Amino acid sequence: MRIGIDYDDTIDRDPGLFISLIHEMVSRKHDPVIVTAREYEGSDIKDFRDRVMKAINYAVPVYCTGSNAKHVAVDGVDIWIDDWPLIVTHDTKGNRFVPSLDTQEYTGKRFHAFAEQMEQELRANIHKGNFDAWEPEPAHLISEILHHVNKLASALEDGDRSGVREFSADVGNYMVKAFHLYGEGDYEANQN
Ligand SMILES: [Mg+2]
Repeated sequence: MRIGIDYDDTIDRDPGLFISLIHEMVSRKHDPVIVTAREYEGSDIKDFRDRVMKAINYAVPVYCTGSNAKHVAVDGVDIWIDDWPLIVTHDTKGNRFVPSLDTQEYTGKRFHAFAEQMEQELRANIHKGNFDAWEPEPAHLISEILHHVNKLASALEDGDRSGVREFSADVGNYMVKAFHLYGEGDYEANQN
């Protein structure tokens, strides 16, 4: 089992504790690694190399992620020990947490494809009227949403991929309408 252990505000809160834990992990055939968001180069990591690594005989690898998300920078870690859980999943450039690259790529790609389909459905239905200017009462909106959710349900049950693309995008457009008209605050004020 690979165990990723943070340094700052984790090991250095009680080096003796973590040094014994690391020895114990190694003796039980586990694979502890130290993973710090510090930079790769320079004197930044020299202090703990000297203090901590000496105590564990330099037997444990140290990975410096340079503020990149730890789970992306280091493969195969089963358990993380970290005082700052977000730093495991997020990049921390400029003190602002940014979803790690693979998360961004995943959500970005999927969201983009879905948004494109939503636009396509709006264009295909343009002859039915101006969707953007449409201001249905809640009850009307709900019945439209349910109607399209039912179509989506049938397409899902039938394994109809093209139907799932079409009707999920339709549902998405009605969700945007609900969000915009009844979630975002004063619609009239937003229009001016
Ligand atoms: Mg820390």
